[in-house]
Amino acid sequence: MNFFNSIASIFQEHLTLIQVSLFAGLISILWFAEVFISANPWKKKLNHSSINFLFIFTALPIQLAITLGVLVISDWVVSHHWGLLFLLPHPESFWVKYVIGFFLLDFFEYAYHVTMHKVNRLWKFHLIHHTDTQLDVSTTIREHPGETFIRVCFLGLWVFLSGASLGLLVLRQTVQTFSNIIAHTHLQLPEKIDRVLGWLLITPNLHHVHHHDSMPYTDCNYGDVFSIWDRIFGTYKEMDHSAINYGLDIFDAKHSDKFVYLVKTPFNEEYLKPKANLPL
Ligand SMILES: [Zn+2]
Ligand SMILES: [Zn+2]
Repeated sequence: MNFFNSIASIFQEHLTLIQVSLFAGLISILWFAEVFISANPWKKKLNHSSINFLFIFTALPIQLAITLGVLVISDWVVSHHWGLLFLLPHPESFWVKYVIGFFLLDFFEYAYHVTMHKVNRLWKFHLIHHTDTQLDVSTTIREHPGETFIRVCFLGLWVFLSGASLGLLVLRQTVQTFSNIIAHTHLQLPEKIDRVLGWLLITPNLHHVHHHDSMPYTDCNYGDVFSIWDRIFGTYKEMDHSAINYGLDIFDAKHSDKFVYLVKTPFNEEYLKPKANLPL
């Protein structure tokens, strides 16, 4: 067993505990860092974040229950040598199993995010993530329970199609969690560094553009960890950070901090695609 497999097996044994601790620890550190650099009173920030934190209680049970099913699928595909990764030469090598596998799952996550925006029935669940008018690190966990269910079901499909092993899933989930948290924080990287990293990765600036309240910016920078898919498929956009207006033009901002209203929103016929009120 090589070094990477040893690390993967330690992670697998304590998967849930390690992930939840990493997630909570990093969010807390960044949350306090945001308070430190912000001119807004911390009580106002706490009020805003508490709505987002409530979504943990709806997401965790759904996520944990369906993830068990995803792990069963992963076990099955690996033992039956099923999936795209097993069609490549040397499917057991580090490069195929972890590197190509990581890129393949990242492409599937890009496809998932595009699907959530383009299919109206799915968009109604995903738009809850976009209704936050004060984007910060807590927005990472602002996800309607319906989307949590849809997202983990799609993950099962991606594992079935790719042949992803448990080790790859652990690596993927860990990097993805870090990337998503950092993409939402409003601690800004120096512009030059952000621009260089943006050639490969979804940086905070790039994801913030995705949270602009109107089209065509709402439908851009869909990438999860890598920005290369947006560049390849023409959905990459940049915007002056000071011009970004968080939220959604079709959603009345007075409801953006009402938890029950947000949970009911996907069943409200009023909310469809954002209006294309900016030139393409
Ligand atoms: Zn989105
Ligand atoms: Zn986001």
